[in-house]
Amino acid sequence: MFVLLRELQRLRRQIGLRPPGRSGSLAVRHVDAGSCNGCEHELGACFGPHYDAGRFGLSVAASPRHADALLVSGTVTTRMASPLRTAYESMPEPRWVIALGDCALGLTFLGDETELAGPVETLLPVDVFIPGCPPQPEAIAKGLLEAMDQSRGAKLGRRRLHL
Ligand code: SF4
Repeated sequence: MFVLLRELQRLRRQIGLRPPGRSGSLAVRHVDAGSCNGCEHELGACFGPHYDAGRFGLSVAASPRHADALLVSGTVTTRMASPLRTAYESMPEPRWVIALGDCALGLTFLGDETELAGPVETLLPVDVFIPGCPPQPEAIAKGLLEAMDQSRGAKLGRRRLHL
């Protein structure tokens, strides 16, 4: 076990992955609204031991009620439109929406057009767009960190109001 952890540290040093000295956190609830699973694969890699997005304060929430941001992949299908809105409405405010991948952005789509409700932006207010088919784990981490910065700015602003 310790050998594996040492090896992991060595690999991180080798590829130059170090925490950039930022603070804060962002809990993300992911919803697959009609993806081919390619975006999910890269998202898994982003939170896996190689890229380890958790070291930046990013985490995956099990419920939208515990999430700061909703991360949506895939062109939204007609069947997923309502569950997606329900997930969004269950989140505490302030909340952020991140569209993951070209399908979610409306740049491409999978399946039968008659069964698609449209890109995420047609249903929810999107704050961060992460293009790519699929986006690379680095691009996903960058988009999530952008949302984290936005949320931190909003929280600081709210705190100033209390003063
Ligand atoms: S953007 Fe590409 S990888 Fe992601 S769901 Fe669409 S087709 Fe699949």
